[in-house]
Amino acid sequence: MEKTIKDVFIDELHDILSAEQQIAKALPKVAEASSSPELKAAFKAHLQETKGQIRRLEKAFRLLKLKPRVQFCKGTKGLIDECNEVIKDYPKSAVRDAALISKAQRIEHYEISAYGTVCTFANELGHKDIASLLHETLNEESNADKKLTKLAEGGFLTSGINHKANPPAKTLKEKTAGKKKPSSSEDKANSDKKNVTSLTNKAIAATKSAVTSKKKTAATKKKTAVASNKKTTSAKKVAPKKTIAKKTVVKSKASKAVVRSKARKPAKKSVAKRKTSALGHRKRA
Ligand code: FE
Ligand code: FE
Ligand code: ZN
Repeated sequence: MEKTIKDVFIDELHDILSAEQQIAKALPKVAEASSSPELKAAFKAHLQETKGQIRRLEKAFRLLKLKPRVQFCKGTKGLIDECNEVIKDYPKSAVRDAALISKAQRIEHYEISAYGTVCTFANELGHKDIASLLHETLNEESNADKKLTKLAEGGFLTSGINHKANPPAKTLKEKTAGKKKPSSSEDKANSDKKNVTSLTNKAIAATKSAVTSKKKTAATKKKTAVASNKKTTSAKKVAPKKTIAKKTVVKSKASKAVVRSKARKPAKKSVAKRKTSALGHRKRA
């Protein structure tokens, strides 16, 4: 039999009924898993709303003179599975609350999308009474989503759950305060060494690739040229010598750079010494 827009409407009503039933079953556990009292209350309030939404859908089926069949919503199952993963993976904390809000908002958006569509279908098919029932639910879902955003982001005078889940960096510094930290001059010396090393490595890599490309050209020439076996062997022996020679040049350059970076430090010290001696001189004078 040919399918009509009414079939889509009825199908989607069944889907959203299954979604609501699954959500009603999942919400008590999600509320229990929340640590923020406000979030817990929001989930509990939405459980009551969800029960009312199920009643509205049952009324819609009555108005359509249909007995709802069992049609499982796989999308909602996936979203609820993700909620349960959060509960499993995160200990009870503001961080878990933030993750639960993230997952719960995906569910709300799924519902907002579904109710928006069935509402439009109901209007298109001339079921104004059903459309207004579905629109009531759409508003509830929308408000539930906004409430979750407010809890996550905080309001004018309250800080949000996301902020609580993200303690200031100072606290983390205080935690590691006992550990030895390198001084800024040591940092400078280390970064100088690192720079020299990376420059040396880059230079070596460049030399290697240059030598390899030369070798490749030589190899191609060897293949095409009609040469004796003796000449080929001697060419092979020469190539590695070149590599070693170039590497040595690079290394000596690098070691010069190290010497230069080391030489910089005593120079600063001597300036400092000059300053103190000048002060001492003034004192004496
Ligand atoms: Fe709902
Ligand atoms: Fe679905
Ligand atoms: Zn909802």
